[in-house]
Amino acid sequence: MGFTEDRSTWFEGQGLWQHVPAEQWQDWTWQLKNRITSLEDLERFMTLTPEERRGVAFAGKKLSLAITPYFFNLIDRTDPNCPIRKQLIPREGEMLVSPGEQLDSLGEDEHSPVPGIVHRYPDRVLFLVTDRCAAYCRYCTRSRLVSNAQDYNFHPEYEQGLRYIEAHPEVRDVLLSGGDPLLLSDRKLEHLLARLREIPHVEFIRIGSRIPVFLPQRITPKLCEIFKRYGPIWMSIHVNHPKEATAELRDACERLSFAGVPLGNQSVLLSGVNDDAEVMKALVHRLLRMRVRPYYIYQMDLITGGAHFKVDVRKGIEIVRSLRGHTTGYAVPQYVIDAPGGGGKVPINPDYIEKITDDEIVFRNYEGNVHRYPLRVEAGKVPALDPMSVIDGS
Ligand code: SF4
Repeated sequence: MGFTEDRSTWFEGQGLWQHVPAEQWQDWTWQLKNRITSLEDLERFMTLTPEERRGVAFAGKKLSLAITPYFFNLIDRTDPNCPIRKQLIPREGEMLVSPGEQLDSLGEDEHSPVPGIVHRYPDRVLFLVTDRCAAYCRYCTRSRLVSNAQDYNFHPEYEQGLRYIEAHPEVRDVLLSGGDPLLLSDRKLEHLLARLREIPHVEFIRIGSRIPVFLPQRITPKLCEIFKRYGPIWMSIHVNHPKEATAELRDACERLSFAGVPLGNQSVLLSGVNDDAEVMKALVHRLLRMRVRPYYIYQMDLITGGAHFKVDVRKGIEIVRSLRGHTTGYAVPQYVIDAPGGGGKVPINPDYIEKITDDEIVFRNYEGNVHRYPLRVEAGKVPALDPMSVIDGS
């Protein structure tokens, strides 16, 4: 794949929508109303490959097609291998089910005591507050319910969810997700945050959202005021490729940061999108410049129709190895597999340890050089300092 970027510029602008007044372009409701959602919409702007045409025809039964005009501008319409295009435009590979793939690959439904709540770990709940997103990622873990293309009968029930959290004092951490919680109106979001803040045992509130990436216009001053009022609210955004790190996203992240929202990024490792050390390095550097800490790289979950995105884990490990020690520590995300069936996130690290004995640990550094660190604790034989020199100051 390879990647060379111009680090001095940030993509920005209205692209294909130059004729739209800037005021409308900046209006997130205009962006939503003008999304590309059908084969006809797409073919007004670009020529699809036969594989994509078949994928689009199937999308209505799997996961809806939607792309905001802002994000559509990032697609290279002349390149079928464009990493943005691959994430958003359906391909016929989605129609195939491979061994091991499942609709609910993380076993979330089994851990759902009331609609919209997933309670897998004792002290944390996932609160699914909507099934809608600004745009739909073709590899979505929750494609069974997101966009409701599969008639999954998912109806988020805020009150039931809130009452469940109130009744469970062990829950100290609530993650709002979906779908995308930032698609809710300011009024609904404020209501949810206010109710959660009233629950004494809820210490930590976080939001998982791809809205800053698909629809940075949604990060309005008014929304930021809500985050300030009910903060600290932590947020995980979802950027997969450095092309997504535009001037608009950078500015949205700045608004969130100034409202006191700590930002982390979660990327999914995707074949032909970001399974490349140079791409990943460019991405994590852009993230730091946008005040976002690269947090996780996910091995893709085993969702149905996802095989064409799957990357060999060994490649993921090599990508992490190419970052660790070779760039700023803050830029190195944790590579994880969310264990199929609901086993939780497990870190997958390059192995630096050669040997551990009672005497020492032997390990390699980022350059491959062997180093040793003694483990046995023995009483010192030679004083590091002459005690008298400390007492008399000599
Ligand atoms: S934004 Fe998140 S929830 Fe929505 S389609 Fe993409 S991965 Fe799925």
